[in-house]
Amino acid sequence: PYVITSACKDEMAADCVEECPVDCIHEGPDQYYIDPDTCIDCGACEPVCPVEAIYQDEFVPEEEQEYIEKNRAFFE
Ligand code: SF4
Repeated sequence: PYVITSACKDEMAADCVEECPVDCIHEGPDQYYIDPDTCIDCGACEPVCPVEAIYQDEFVPEEEQEYIEKNRAFFE
């Protein structure tokens, strides 16, 4: 699945929400999160993020790795 990382915290632009065909991007108290069990890996959200906060899980930068679990945890 795709993952939203720390850059979202200061932005929360939400451009990605409208792009997602399965509506799996949800607003959290501090940033937006992607439901990993619903994401179909289409990639539509990534290019519209103005702060490049969205990555496919296997390409999340090392210093942002914790966000893979943070996104999942938001939906548990
Ligand atoms: Fe939604 Fe596609 Fe982004 Fe997954 S990759 S969150 S399905 S827009």
